[in-house]
Amino acid sequence: MAFIFDRNILEKLDDKADRRVAFLHRELQQLEIDLAKVNGQLFVGYGQPQDVWAQWLEAWKAEEIQLQSVHVGRDYEPYAQERDRSMAEFFAGHGVEFKGVKDSVILEKNEVTKDDGKPYTVFTPYSRKWRKTLTAGDYAEAPSHKEAAKARWLSPDAFEAPAIPTLASMGFESPEDLDALIPQRSIVSKVLSAYGDQRDFPAVPGTSRLSLHLRFGTIGIRQALRAGMAHSEKWTTELIWRDFYQMIIYHFPHSVEGSFRPAYDAIPWENNEAHFDAWCKGKTGYPLVDAGMRELNATGFMHNRVRMVVASFLCKHLLTDWRWGERYFASKLLDFDLASNVGGWQWASGSGCDAAPYFRVFNPTSQLDKFDKDLRYVRKWVPEYGTSLYPEPIVEHKTARQRAIDTYQSVLKPS
Ligand SMILES: Cc1cc2nc3c(=O)[nH]c(=O)nc-3n(C[C@H](O)[C@H](O)[C@H](O)COP(=O)(O)OP(=O)(O)OC[C@H]3O[C@@H](n4cnc5c(N)ncnc54)[C@H](O)[C@@H]3O)c2cc1C
Repeated sequence: MAFIFDRNILEKLDDKADRRVAFLHRELQQLEIDLAKVNGQLFVGYGQPQDVWAQWLEAWKAEEIQLQSVHVGRDYEPYAQERDRSMAEFFAGHGVEFKGVKDSVILEKNEVTKDDGKPYTVFTPYSRKWRKTLTAGDYAEAPSHKEAAKARWLSPDAFEAPAIPTLASMGFESPEDLDALIPQRSIVSKVLSAYGDQRDFPAVPGTSRLSLHLRFGTIGIRQALRAGMAHSEKWTTELIWRDFYQMIIYHFPHSVEGSFRPAYDAIPWENNEAHFDAWCKGKTGYPLVDAGMRELNATGFMHNRVRMVVASFLCKHLLTDWRWGERYFASKLLDFDLASNVGGWQWASGSGCDAAPYFRVFNPTSQLDKFDKDLRYVRKWVPEYGTSLYPEPIVEHKTARQRAIDTYQSVLKPS
């Protein structure tokens, strides 16, 4: 098995104590130990993927080892698509077969399409077709490490894998709070069974907290789906959302940088930096928004209901470009996943596929009354709420709501 810390990705990370890099590094160390128990090896490199492979191929050539094929888990993000295309050319030049395999999703790319073969852009019919298309084989258990090791492509006797590069050698360090912030790697059936009733209340541990593990593959998506099928239809639907956004990013890569619906690119965002700063710091004067942003800043996680509220508040109440919020989430979320993040942000801004209509604006105060009525979540993250230390609202709800509707309308439905 092999893994490359891709320099092109790591170099974009500003925080040298990035928890995601440290988490991955730690998991790889554990995987190396697990594989060794069944006589398998893990090759870990750091650099430009082609350079790393060129070095490995060179070293193996010296030992008279000819690599025959490389199988990679398919990745649907535009950068990864581009990289894998160039890796395919590289391997072809070395006489090595390069093959993508479906691994991180249940149904991919063109497996769920409309009857005319075109990709869906609306979730509900997609999910119906997804369920119709699914077969037991799509979520069957994968071979164990032991079985997989039997088929390993390089025996330890033939060539020994080099030591895993240290975090420091890649310019990173391990944050002290890593252990405290990584959610358990287990699927709790009790949580799934109560999911339908509990999932919207941020003070309650009513969701699985598996997003980081699903993102990095430290829990397999097929294992998750097996649990969903056994315990919760609603939770299974969330896994379908995940497949949906991976399918969307694959077919509509423009949606990473631009609005999914191009007309929304004309929205004259206000982009007030002081407002954006207050939003990032959790000092908007709207307690549910502030609690969410402070949870994100402190832990790298935010409850889904609150993600929807803070994202809507930024785009609509503060008329700030959704890409600003998307980038901020990308820098902070432990479970950051480009497809789901862009999908969630474009949904909130109204510019995405299957987004709520632009004139429906979340009211952050009624959301609070509905989902954190007794203020348990707010008091945890905003202890000064209700005292003179808590800031006044930076915008007035009714005025901001009307401004958002008028602004969107001026572009989308010119009179
Ligand atoms: C603005 C915004 C940004 C988001 N950014 C991300 C992101 O970067 N990475 C990410 O994994 N999720 C993202 N989500 C979706 C969702 O908020 C998280 O997946 C969820 O909160 C993670 O908590 P959980 O594991 O307890 O989820 P659960 O409620 O237990 O759901 C189970 C799994 O289903 C998947 N899932 C759930 N909801 C969604 C959804 N709406 N879209 C796609 N997949 C979903 C996740 O893999 C999740 O772990 C975003 C949502 C919004 C509104």
